[in-house]
Amino acid sequence: MPSKDTQKHYLEKELLDLLKTDSSIFEFIQNGSLDGVWYWDLEQPENEWMSPKFWTELGYDPKEMPHKVAAWQNIMYEDDLKASMESFQRHCDEPNCPYDQVVRFKHKDSSTVYIRCRGIVIRNKEGKPIRMLGAHNNITKSISLERELNARLTEYNQQLKAKNKELEQFTYITSHDLQEPLNTIIAFSRLLQESQKNLDPIGQKSVEAIVDSAHRMKDFIISLLEYSRIGRNTGKTAIHFPKLIEDLKIDLHGIISTKNATVEYTGISLELSGFKADIYKLFQNVIVNGIKYTDKDILPLITIHSEEQDNHYLFSIKDNGIGIDAEQYEKIFEMFQRLHPRDQYSGTGIGLSYCKKVVELHQGKIWLESEVGKGTTFYFTLAKQ
Ligand code: ADP
Repeated sequence: MPSKDTQKHYLEKELLDLLKTDSSIFEFIQNGSLDGVWYWDLEQPENEWMSPKFWTELGYDPKEMPHKVAAWQNIMYEDDLKASMESFQRHCDEPNCPYDQVVRFKHKDSSTVYIRCRGIVIRNKEGKPIRMLGAHNNITKSISLERELNARLTEYNQQLKAKNKELEQFTYITSHDLQEPLNTIIAFSRLLQESQKNLDPIGQKSVEAIVDSAHRMKDFIISLLEYSRIGRNTGKTAIHFPKLIEDLKIDLHGIISTKNATVEYTGISLELSGFKADIYKLFQNVIVNGIKYTDKDILPLITIHSEEQDNHYLFSIKDNGIGIDAEQYEKIFEMFQRLHPRDQYSGTGIGLSYCKKVVELHQGKIWLESEVGKGTTFYFTLAKQ
């Protein structure tokens, strides 16, 4: 009976000898948790010793598999074979270029097995590649897991997008449809107001309250409609600064002159690509707030500044108004959150949540710094593209 050693393939024996003498080879094998080892004779390239584990991972009986390159090449996916040969060539030509590939094999049961295949070329004294030692890791399970997770994530994202769209549609339709009965209420209460002299004091007060509430409700509905339309109005266009601020100042002439306010732009001249109507309203909301939330005896001064960052422009809008307590910084960006009663400062509480949505639509962030009694600076970034 032949001894165990003589049964060994010559390449296996050679590798075992190499392992005894060269510790880097041993470390190389150790460092991967392996599902197969191979040792390739580059001088007789048809010969390659494959460890039994490689074949069992692929469902084959190692005893039946020849130590020939053709044996594994026949069950490797064609594209991957081509890619791994190119990578092998690169590794031979340039030792610093690692041979590290994920390749697919056909399992005996026809399923796909993903193998991470790493290798190092062994050279003779003249530097000529004569052998190649490689290690396999079966990563099929992690790939399947990753795929499953990705598939679920995509599914959840699609569901979320659909729900968001549904919600936006709902907001749009309800606010749109609510306008009609509300306009009727406003029209009839105007008629009632005109004939107020025929009403007793309670009747007169009631009509005034109805008119006031109806107008407030109209403001809410219009703001909600605008909110649900963010990013839907038109496509992105080029927006120029300070041109946008100059246009805004013309549109805000009423409030600026009533409050004796000054609005100045101290930033750079710039152009960004965005949803113009939404960005216009973003600046309008913050500027109007800056003018609105000031003490009566203060002349509002609004300073708009801008500077360039890598992928964004950073804007700041500073006012000399009443300021905001640090505890409220987060709250004011939530829908319908107001810090002051209506009889003190009018508003819907939608303006800043609108601003936040516009900023996020342009891959930016919005935040503020403030000192009560001194003023507030709102900062936001907008992506250049
Ligand atoms: P609105 O102004 O319609 O109430 P916003 O969403 O624009 O709604 O603002 C939310 C709240 O944040 C306001 O009610 C106000 O209390 C506070 N606020 C916003 N801007 C300023 C500012 N520049 N200075 C002080 N308070 C402000």
